Amino acid sequence: MSLLEVRNVKKVYTTRLGANQVQALSNVNFSVEDGEYVAIMGESGSGKTTLLNILAALDRPTAGEILLNGKNTVEIKNKELSAFRRTNLGFVFQDFNLLDTFSLKDNIFLPLVLSVEPIAKKLEITHLLEKYPYEVSGGQKQRAAVARALITQPQLILADEPTGALDSRSTDQLLDLFQSINEDGQTIVMVTHSTKAASRAKRVLFIKDGEVFHQIYKANMSDEEMYAKISAALTVLATGGEQGE
Ligand code: ADP
Ligand code: MG
Repeated sequence: MSLLEVRNVKKVYTTRLGANQVQALSNVNFSVEDGEYVAIMGESGSGKTTLLNILAALDRPTAGEILLNGKNTVEIKNKELSAFRRTNLGFVFQDFNLLDTFSLKDNIFLPLVLSVEPIAKKLEITHLLEKYPYEVSGGQKQRAAVARALITQPQLILADEPTGALDSRSTDQLLDLFQSINEDGQTIVMVTHSTKAASRAKRVLFIKDGEVFHQIYKANMSDEEMYAKISAALTVLATGGEQGE
């Protein structure tokens, strides 16, 4: 059994009292094995954030199933969802900040005080623990946010554009960190615009027209070879492939 199975996921947003419908995802299918590191790419508006929010059980699909260790998260009752997220999932988002969809209490509980020290050591932020966010750099903030995501030892880390607000040096540090925690066994699913970031993942999924359009396994490729392959795939994606646009 895969750690994560995404089956026939569809998401239609209904806006303005039903006047407008946007189909963000039409039929998404993929699975993620324990220990994988998967990047998800696609053009702006292709539904990446929608998909990640659904994987994170922050939003519900219009149709389809999300199985985490065989449990269909779509069927979890609202009042049990935050406990489910807390025990199973870690999140890293672009803006480092509090999650609007979590209560203040859940936000405060996210870093479970007990495991702070070892994680801080691993992320090299021990000397920064007493600092406030406004006192540290973006890269340091993101490492603190990664620590917050890891502290519950989640089965799955979900990251939405984690390097999107970072300079190139902090980006490299964050990507090294993700690689290192993945080598320690952490499963990661990361949405990214960045070919550089995606080229560090073990697999890249490309979303187009609400579906998984293509995927590339890194296998024994170097970062540079993977980068070239992703760039070529993005060109096909943008120029329309066989469908045309
Ligand atoms: P991406 O993250 O790939 O840029 P999104 O998942 O944010 O894409 O958006 C996919 C599509 O769904 C877009 O057309 C977007 O305008 C639409 N969309 C996203 N969120 C909402 C929402 N809350 N209500 C209505 N439409 C939305
Ligand atoms: Mg997005």
